[in-house]
Amino acid sequence: MNSSQGLEEIFARFPGIGPRQARRFVYYLMNKSPTFIKEFIQTINEVKKSTNECENCRRFFIEEESGLNQPSKKRQKTLCDICSDLNRDRSVLMIVTRESDFESVEKSGAYKGLYFILGGTVPILDKEPEKRIRLRALLDRISNDSGLNEIILSLNTTPDGEHTMTIVKEAIEKLARPKRIKISVLGRGLSTGAELEYADSDTIRNALKNRQ
Ligand SMILES: [Zn+2]
Repeated sequence: MNSSQGLEEIFARFPGIGPRQARRFVYYLMNKSPTFIKEFIQTINEVKKSTNECENCRRFFIEEESGLNQPSKKRQKTLCDICSDLNRDRSVLMIVTRESDFESVEKSGAYKGLYFILGGTVPILDKEPEKRIRLRALLDRISNDSGLNEIILSLNTTPDGEHTMTIVKEAIEKLARPKRIKISVLGRGLSTGAELEYADSDTIRNALKNRQ
């Protein structure tokens, strides 16, 4: 494999990018000046260096965004701006697949609680769900929180999403029942096969209102 094929393979691993698009990215970079390439690599490095993972919701965020985190380097927990915002409703926890889903829900403005990013979906027939999603971390998160009243499952209504929902629901029910935490699922305003990431704000608002 030569270097351009290697780069193509890396781009093809990006979410939503197929082999043809990956090849176009490689040709695009081949046409760019050395200065552009240098800046490109530098920017990627800077993003990676300033990226933090929130210990509460597992969301990746850029340090500059979280003004509240700045003065408190002493604090052990790394928390994102949402988890450290005392105006959020701490009694509700929404479980979403990825950061992009979180962004869609935030944009809708319909939700003021906290989040947990699952980090992926479990394909049907997959034998090791723990390797696909942050199930252990989610269970710890719920166990260590005494103030939760409701957990909202906001996963995709694709077959893999539904499968993941079943696994997560089964796992958290055992913890939620003795703590009297209600488990709800986003309403069917979100049509079958829909991915939360691409839902518009009105759809999300309705699905949240009609949660069961
Ligand atoms: Zn967080």
